[in-house]
Amino acid sequence: MAEQAQCCSPIIETTSPERYRVQFTIGKDSHDKLRRVQALLRREIPDGDPGAIFDRALTVLLDKVEKTKLGAADKLRRHRPIRPKTEPRQAIRPGTDKEARKPTVPSRHIPREVQRAVWRRDHGQCAFVSSTGRRCTERTFLEFHHVQAYAMNGPATVANISLRCWRHNQYEAELIFGPSGPSIVREECTSP
Ligand SMILES: [Zn+2]
Repeated sequence: MAEQAQCCSPIIETTSPERYRVQFTIGKDSHDKLRRVQALLRREIPDGDPGAIFDRALTVLLDKVEKTKLGAADKLRRHRPIRPKTEPRQAIRPGTDKEARKPTVPSRHIPREVQRAVWRRDHGQCAFVSSTGRRCTERTFLEFHHVQAYAMNGPATVANISLRCWRHNQYEAELIFGPSGPSIVREECTSP
């Protein structure tokens, strides 16, 4: 008996381990595109197998969407107003006052290469694992989570950043800071 996949039960069903039967209706435009791609890929896919073409299309689309989403998140941060560097304050009594210095604030910025590496390592899925060993299956509204909290000087490195859905990001922040702790640092990576 075919086991049906979670969210799309009438459309996708497993026919055997690692194989899925996908059924959907396409319009004339999509059908024309499929025919054109079949013709262009006749050498690589001689039988014009729609499944093989679907896989190639998804691979290209996934790569493009990942780049766009991660790029957009990066751009968003770059467009945040940047505070001008403050000049060291003048000593009020030269020779007697120590030069006042602004404390250095560590950067919250997660470098793009770290975002990409984390995304690939966690396979674009929330990496929260419950006490029973089950990993969260959420793939939407993901955020970059600091394993060692940013507020506790957790660095923005691949080892310290992990994908979380917003619920688990919130949940883990509350475990550390409590429900009335400081507002959570949200580093969105997939929501438009
Ligand atoms: Zn989750």
